[in-house]
Amino acid sequence: MKFRNFPMVPRVIYGRGSFDDVSEIIAPKRKGDAPFIFFVDDVFAQQETLLRRIPLQQKDKIIFINTTDEPKTKQVDRLRDALKAEFGTVSGVIGIGGGSIMDLAKAVGLMMTNEGSSVQYQGWDLLKAPGVYRVGIPTLSGTGAEVSRTAVLTGPEKKLGLNSDYTTFDQVVLDPSLTKNAPKNQRFFTGMDCYIHCVESLNGTYLNAFSKSYGEKSQEMCEQVFLHKSAWDDESDEALMMASWHGGMSIAYSQVGVAHAVSYGLAFVLGTHHGVGNSIVFNYLEEYYPAGVEKFHDMVHKWNIDLPRNICAHCTDEQFNTMINVSLGMAPLWENALGKNWRDVMTAAKLRRLYERM
Ligand code: NAD
Ligand code: ZN
Repeated sequence: MKFRNFPMVPRVIYGRGSFDDVSEIIAPKRKGDAPFIFFVDDVFAQQETLLRRIPLQQKDKIIFINTTDEPKTKQVDRLRDALKAEFGTVSGVIGIGGGSIMDLAKAVGLMMTNEGSSVQYQGWDLLKAPGVYRVGIPTLSGTGAEVSRTAVLTGPEKKLGLNSDYTTFDQVVLDPSLTKNAPKNQRFFTGMDCYIHCVESLNGTYLNAFSKSYGEKSQEMCEQVFLHKSAWDDESDEALMMASWHGGMSIAYSQVGVAHAVSYGLAFVLGTHHGVGNSIVFNYLEEYYPAGVEKFHDMVHKWNIDLPRNICAHCTDEQFNTMINVSLGMAPLWENALGKNWRDVMTAAKLRRLYERM
């Protein structure tokens, strides 16, 4: 096929308090006594009011996940093996958290029906079977993981998603009240992931009317929240939740660019988290995205954000080389950003100088 025929999330419910409809939404999907598994970010482990609203029945189970590290292939395999050993099969998997939990839930749900290790499926269209029923309930807005056809995992050799038509959630629950208490810095960094998706999509060579329509709306909402409002309010949670969705839709039909390609290198070698890493990199990309970077500087200033600096100060040559290889391996991102002859523009030496600035 010449054009991408990509899947969208078939069902989405939106609204403040829509979380309380989960019970009704999942009931018809229950298969006998096979349980629903709720993967919940452990930041909520003490939040009784939220936990009480999770509609557990029969053998349903909450598994708390620590997201200090972003999801790993080994972690996904281990969770899948444990679920298979305990229950054989499950009715579905429900993720409640930020992008890390979205990806973890997608991946575990897929690995319930695909043999072997998730490492084998890091890449494009490698999965052989649809996963079990999967629901995404974001508590942090920006990554677009709730809408995308990938589940990003760090494996022994690479940080790369399980990209496939099977990966998209079956159901998403967008309840902006769930993002209300996210810490300011985290909200900023994950929000900037969204802003950067838009800038990279809108300034890329892959741009088309489909991506443009979503990207422009998303960028407008990011700027409304991070530049034009004087304080965070309910409307900010609502706008950023929809910005995340639209940003994800924009890159679905285009691609991300320089910040993501460079940030993947940081993530792989230094474990830098996605939103933070993108922000660290984007700060230095005035050559590629002058208008976007200028506004980014305004947003950093306005929200009084301390961007980590000198994170590569103690990197060895070997580490720099690994970062460079990981980054230059993301060919579609570079091609989107710099065109077909991107290899003439972004050389290993130039990329090294860029990393050295960070
Ligand atoms: P995250 O999920 O890693 O969470 C960051 C921190 O915020 C964690 O400490 C978490 O406990 C906390 N948190 C989450 N919700 C909270 C809330 N409501 N209140 C208080 N604390 C809360 O952060 P993220 O930026 O949303 O996700 C990053 C991950 O998403 C990375 O693993 C990245 O690779 C992935 N990602 C995936 C896609 C995709 O399309 N699949 C796209 C972009 C990024
Ligand atoms: Zn991103």
